Amino acid sequence: YLFGRKKATEVAHLVWEQIIQKGDVVVDATCGNGNDTLAMLKMVTDDSNGYGGHVYAMDIQKDAIESTSSLLDQTLGSKEKERVKLFNICHSKMEEIVPEKSSVRMVAFNLGYLPGGNKSIITVSDTTLSALKASERVLVPGGLISLVVYIGHPGGREELEVVEAFGSGLPVSDWVCCKLQMLNRPLAPVLVFMFKREK
Ligand code: SAM
Repeated sequence: YLFGRKKATEVAHLVWEQIIQKGDVVVDATCGNGNDTLAMLKMVTDDSNGYGGHVYAMDIQKDAIESTSSLLDQTLGSKEKERVKLFNICHSKMEEIVPEKSSVRMVAFNLGYLPGGNKSIITVSDTTLSALKASERVLVPGGLISLVVYIGHPGGREELEVVEAFGSGLPVSDWVCCKLQMLNRPLAPVLVFMFKREK
């Protein structure tokens, strides 16, 4: 019912809220227009005292970084904006920008192309897989890898298969992996969640 009423990204946000704590470090692996980045920043921030964590947000498109930056400028004060770090890089390189000693609580992917942007710049299976492996390495126990996977465009289903194969291969002793798919809307985005167990 919930999934039918809300957008897939909003359902993902409901799951994130269960995992993310104030002060956490989280990664937006595909920041696009910045909507997810903003949602993550709110989740790591304690409004009562301004205490908060950091969002490391990246996108392979310069236009997307600019779009995210302008959304943050419109919505946040300069102090808050400082807690978002924006990088124009491929998400397979996330380990180069996330500080080594930080414990990352979540890495989130919203795959596909930038809405309203260049549809030929799109996430692809190879680098998505490398980025998933990097996410596995940077994530703290009790953390989450979250993916919204679009299957309506060419290559989308293949990318979903790669994501599913990665999740299926994670050891059951350390991970809980699941997906949420609309049975009566076959082209709707698929949500995949990989929860890393607490030690
Ligand atoms: N989360 C975004 C938002 O809230 O607006 C939407 C993301 S959009 C569906 C997917 C984004 O992934 C695009 O902006 C695209 O440029 C980016 N992208 C594609 N390949 C990438 C890669 N290898 N590394 C990082 N970002 C990539």
